[in-house]
Amino acid sequence: MIDPAVLRQTIAELGQPSYRATQVYRALTKGLVTDFAAVAVLPRDVRATLAERLQPLSLSPVETFVTSTGDARKTLFQTHDGHAVEAVLMVYRQRATVCVSSQVGCSVGCAFCASGSDGLKRSLSAEEMVDQVLHFARGLRDLGRRVTNVVFMGMGEPFLNYDETLRACRLLCDPEGFGLGARGVSISTAGVEPAVRRFTAEESQINLAVSLHAATDALRDRLVPLNRRYPLDVLFAACADYVTRRRRKLFFEYVVLAGVNDGDDQVRALAGRLGRPLYHLNLIAYNETGGEFSRPEPRELAALYDQLTAAGVTCTVRRSPGGEIEAACGQLALARVRRPATWPARPDQT
Ligand code: SAH
Ligand code: SF4
Repeated sequence: MIDPAVLRQTIAELGQPSYRATQVYRALTKGLVTDFAAVAVLPRDVRATLAERLQPLSLSPVETFVTSTGDARKTLFQTHDGHAVEAVLMVYRQRATVCVSSQVGCSVGCAFCASGSDGLKRSLSAEEMVDQVLHFARGLRDLGRRVTNVVFMGMGEPFLNYDETLRACRLLCDPEGFGLGARGVSISTAGVEPAVRRFTAEESQINLAVSLHAATDALRDRLVPLNRRYPLDVLFAACADYVTRRRRKLFFEYVVLAGVNDGDDQVRALAGRLGRPLYHLNLIAYNETGGEFSRPEPRELAALYDQLTAAGVTCTVRRSPGGEIEAACGQLALARVRRPATWPARPDQT
């Protein structure tokens, strides 16, 4: 993907009419081309000059890993400056969701997450985020399917890369380009309060999720270090303002760590904070990242769900496919597992 402003400027420098820039933009985003030679509407010499001056892809796919059932695949990409970036495609009967990374590494350093264990290398550009989606869209197109959902839940904290993340959303949702519906897009934040407020002011249909993981400051300070900067009262004031002003559902993510954040104290605190309309809690079983925490048993998870529901919290238990290839939540950047990366022959069975 090329920054549309750079594309327009290059076309102008070549003395070409501006509609040529639109043609190239459409070819890249709707036509999913990866090579200017394939943009047949362009004069041959323009194609050749563009190929000399611009690189249609901001990321090169290096390796793909796929689960035995084919329901999740993870691609490892390389940036032009040599960083590794990962994105995951999850294929369901009706939906196909791409989980996008917004940064290389993460500066937040949550206690249970592999992405933050090495700190932040750099933020990704909007083009680098869009290219993760376009990559999977090409494979899906060959199966007669398309990307229906994009979630910013890969590596990195999207609200510490706010401008580029929102620019990526606008590019993906541009009806003249890739044309994804904004309602199919979700951004997940560890709770950057000023960015939640800024997002509230945006006129967008994009969904917001807040990674909570604890409902008391003492525990959340430990699990999500960002809580020391934006404690729960501050964060929840911004959350309440979001649902009041936008009248949209707000999702809270809760990675369940056995014996750590699933006790009665947290259930009570969660009920106190979340028992209001438009708040929805997603319980996610912790995926092993080699640390001090352990995954809850399914019955423990079910018990927690029952307790919360009884206490008036609207919640669901979220399935996180891709554990087998270390593509599940929080596992990106872990040691790699190799598997043959062929597309499933029968898309209706995925
Ligand atoms: N930085 C953002 C978005 C990326 S993380 C955020 O924290 O919201 C996306 C989701 O994966 C978050 O809800 C995060 O808490 C969760 N996650 C991180 N590590 C996990 C793990 N080991 N097991 C399960 N979920 C995890
Ligand atoms: Fe960063 Fe999110 Fe992982 Fe926390 S959970 S370290 S914010 S990617």
